Amino acid sequence: MAKDTLDQFAKAKLDALEAQALRRRLVETDRREGALAFRDGRRLISFCCNDYLNLSQNEEVKRAAIEATEKYGTGSGASRLVSGNHPLFRELERRLADWKQAEDCVVFGSGYMANMGIVPTLMREGDLILADELSHACLLSGSKLSGARIEIFRHNDMDHLRALLAAHRNAAQHCLILTDGIFSMDGDAAPVAEMADIAASHDAWLMTDDAHGIGVVGHEGRGSSFMGKTKADVPLQMGTLSKAVGAYGGYLCASRAVCDLIRTRARTLIYSTGLPPGTAAAAIAALDFMRANPDYCRRPVEKARAFTRALGLPDPASPIVPLILGDAELTLAASALLEKEGYLVTGIRPPTVPAGTARLRFTFTAEHTDADIARLASLVRERILPRRAAE
Ligand SMILES: *Cc1c(COP(=O)(O)O)cnc(C)c1O
Repeated sequence: MAKDTLDQFAKAKLDALEAQALRRRLVETDRREGALAFRDGRRLISFCCNDYLNLSQNEEVKRAAIEATEKYGTGSGASRLVSGNHPLFRELERRLADWKQAEDCVVFGSGYMANMGIVPTLMREGDLILADELSHACLLSGSKLSGARIEIFRHNDMDHLRALLAAHRNAAQHCLILTDGIFSMDGDAAPVAEMADIAASHDAWLMTDDAHGIGVVGHEGRGSSFMGKTKADVPLQMGTLSKAVGAYGGYLCASRAVCDLIRTRARTLIYSTGLPPGTAAAAIAALDFMRANPDYCRRPVEKARAFTRALGLPDPASPIVPLILGDAELTLAASALLEKEGYLVTGIRPPTVPAGTARLRFTFTAEHTDADIARLASLVRERILPRRAAE
């Protein structure tokens, strides 16, 4: 059989994706304060960034990063277990554990790496993982890597979760339930308190990925475990420092024993270099800002609510508002239309979202103005919704 060259193989795959409007391209864009972005010299207001509190542009946060870089350098030299654990890591982990009301915390190089390290450390062949079908890609990648049996339950369907537990729990040694706290592409919340009860009654462990929860939902912006009157009993609270925290890195807040096990065994922590000191310092300053400004933490959801109300949509649970258009091409066209009008709203296509659910994903930040939100809503109402109806 004739064999493709490497480039023929790559080009054929790209052509097939292009034909389905699924090819992706990186577009040069520079980000500035107040959700501003510049593309091809044009000034745009970004409604697709996860920097919900605009802290990546905050003066105090930037100064903390610069000062730590001046003092300690740009890189951390090696894995934290090899070159030594920088005191900034201890400070960062202490703050996160305290805010999340957990005994301890471990910080990773990114949220993706956190999930790729945590799940295989806890689970293995003979164990059972139950995951919401809309869980973030890295929860599912970590699950596959673990070798455990994986069962997927329908999105936020607690009856389906209970049915899968009834069918499969007994055959497994350990059982882990995985969900996003706030779903990244839909913006809705998982019923975390109910899931904690279900987990407890089936001798299962619950892990939430709160990438989009920290800083913007729950009591004082503490995240999805804090959306009820009392804190939900979630033994594994994972999240990222790269969204509302405005920096970079992932974390797990859990008991001391679990964190010690992660530090001892999680491959993405052990075999990967620690975060740069400037990044750790930025995250510390951002967390201090959040704790001092709980009212500011409420603003992104308030801005999202102004948008959904202007469109007659249900109130949002988070700063994320999806507008499902279905077709990938229609979604790209809608995104291009908004860009012409000065708004950056990237189209989200499969496989990031299920086939047939391509969408615009609007995200709101503390610094968006009411005037921009109103204008964006009228563009959507007048220019995009009629096209969707015509499809
Ligand atoms: C963004 C995201 C991640 C990955 O975090 P990074 O720090 O960007 O690697 C993990 N889970 C969810 C739900 C996310 O939205």
